[in-house]
Amino acid sequence: MAAPDTACATLTIDLDAIAANYRLLRDRLVPAACAAVVKADGYGLGAEAIAARLIGEGCRDFFVAQFEEAVSLRRSFNRSGLDAAIYVLNGLADGAERDYAESGITPVLNRLDEIDRWAAYGRTQQKELPAILHVDTGMSRLGLTPGEIPAALDPADRMQGIDLRYVMSHLACAGEPLHPMNEEQRRLFSEILQRFGGVPGSLANSSGIFLGPQFHFSMARPGAALYGMEPLESDSKQMQQVVNLQGKILQCRFIDTGQAVGYGATHRVQRPSRIATVGAGYADGIFRSLESRACGYIGDIRVPMVGRVSMDLVTFDVTDVPESECRPGCSIELIGPHRSIDDVAADAGTIGYEILTALGRRYRRNFSGDTTWKFT
Ligand SMILES: *Cc1c(COP(=O)(O)O)cnc(C)c1O
Repeated sequence: MAAPDTACATLTIDLDAIAANYRLLRDRLVPAACAAVVKADGYGLGAEAIAARLIGEGCRDFFVAQFEEAVSLRRSFNRSGLDAAIYVLNGLADGAERDYAESGITPVLNRLDEIDRWAAYGRTQQKELPAILHVDTGMSRLGLTPGEIPAALDPADRMQGIDLRYVMSHLACAGEPLHPMNEEQRRLFSEILQRFGGVPGSLANSSGIFLGPQFHFSMARPGAALYGMEPLESDSKQMQQVVNLQGKILQCRFIDTGQAVGYGATHRVQRPSRIATVGAGYADGIFRSLESRACGYIGDIRVPMVGRVSMDLVTFDVTDVPESECRPGCSIELIGPHRSIDDVAADAGTIGYEILTALGRRYRRNFSGDTTWKFT
């Protein structure tokens, strides 16, 4: 007997769409390489399966934020006999040199003392250990300041023990192609890069790739666009949708004109209405700020979200939907072909990145597309 379907909502992540998005970015970047940013568990979608699939597409460079993320990705690669570089954006914690080296994890060096510790450890191993050097060209967040570059290069043997794979920086305004910061950062980065001789450079995130070839350098680091977010604020849809979230209707009821829905009784219906309750709420990443702005879809029919979002529940006005399509057990599309991540983000007053990384852990999750590389 089949197991009963107890899931309140199902999140499907389309690996074929991620692969197609990767190929689109990669083809645009030639001859530069295309890395993949899989920090925060692949923006909440599952770093292991995504990285494995992208290795199948030829990706050999993966960025995470934290060492622990890198370790679990390295373990999953080892289990499956895969290999690729894993870089930790947040740097090299004091005393962690040996852990990085022995796990085959490459730090992005953000400070002079990180350079010194990594170089010193390399010398004790009589090896050159791989690293990326991060220079700050305008984010004022991580990386050496331009003023620290001379100290990094002089004395010349300061980096002895390091195999410097890339010098990288990060754009602050890449999503706004006309912003003057883009060109300022690009120029400063080029100047700094020249001082490192022939070391390859990496500057562009997803949006940066679309600023033109002069922003590509030797490797780009897209994240968002892989996961279906549009890199440019225009109407053109370039990326394939990756996420599909279907909420299950738990109950449906008729209410009369003037009756209220949800906490605070903030929504009162203006006509006899039918209300469908779905089993997902703000604990699952359905933002409270979506109240009275968002909608879902049943088939092709738009159903407005009404009333406050509860922790585990959210309510829709399904008056316009045939009753047979909004019974308990029927699905409402919360994210999908009619509602992109960017649409949901706009309704919630935030960015797609926040919507993705907040997607709940309680959803039944599955991957669609070619999952040959999927881990068990
Ligand atoms: C997150 C991040 C990226 C990826 O940015 P997207 O906008 O998601 O493409 C690239 N580089 C750095 C340093 C990052 O922190």
